[in-house]
Amino acid sequence: TNMLITIDGPAGAGKTSVSRELAKRLNCIYVDTGALYRGVALEVKQAGIDWEADAVLEPFLNRISLSFAMEGEDPVLTSSGKNISSLIRTPEISMLASAISARPCVRKALLGLQHAIAKNNDTVFEGRDMGTVVFPHARHKFFLFADLDTRALRRFKEKQAPEQDLVQVKEMMESRDANDAGREIAPLTPAKDAVLIDSTHISLEEVVQRILLEIHR
Ligand code: C5P
Repeated sequence: TNMLITIDGPAGAGKTSVSRELAKRLNCIYVDTGALYRGVALEVKQAGIDWEADAVLEPFLNRISLSFAMEGEDPVLTSSGKNISSLIRTPEISMLASAISARPCVRKALLGLQHAIAKNNDTVFEGRDMGTVVFPHARHKFFLFADLDTRALRRFKEKQAPEQDLVQVKEMMESRDANDAGREIAPLTPAKDAVLIDSTHISLEEVVQRILLEIHR
C-alpha cells in the first residue's frame, strides 16, 4: 500500500512548508488541498455565478476540471489545463474559499479527486479534514497549530497581500479559522488519533524532525 501522511490545522500553522519539506525527504507527492478549494473559489468568482444557490453551484462544479501537480519543486494548480496558481492567494479568494468549502456539494466534488491521487501515489496531504473525513484510516496523522499572533505574523511576512497590514492579516485569519472550525460539515478539528504539534516556539526543521520520528517509530 502507498504511504499516506495527513497534516491538518488552521491557517498559517506551517502546514505547507512542513508538507513540502516532508514530501521532499520522503520522496513522495505533496498535495495542498486548500489550493483545490481556492481553485473552486476562483472559478466561481470569475464565472460570476450565484454560488449561494445549490441549484446553480452543483452543476457548475461538474463543469470545472481542477488538477494539482508538482512541477519540479513547485506545486501547480490547473483548471481545464490552464495554470491558475498565481491567482489563488489573494485575501478575497481566501475568504471565498472558506465560504464555499462549507457547502457539502463542494466538499463532495473534491473528494474523488483527493482519493484518486492517494491511490496512485505516496503522498503527504495537507488541509483541514484530511485525518477526519478524507482519509480517516491514514496511519500517520498530524495536527499542526500555533498561537494566532504567531500565525498572523508568519503570513504577514510572506507578503501574499502587500496591501494588508498585520492587524488586517490577523483579523482575516481569525474569521477564516472561525468559519472553518464552526461549519457543520468537516469542521476544522484534530482527528482523535492525530499527533498534535504546537509550532509556536519551534522551527520548521524541528516540526519536520518530530514528524519523521513519529513516522519511523
Ligand atoms: O489551506 P488554505 O488556507 O489554502 O485553505 C483555504 C480554505 O479552504 C480554508 O480556509 C478552508 O476553508 C478550505 N479548506 C477546507 N478543507 C481543506 C483545505 C482547505 O475546507 N481540506
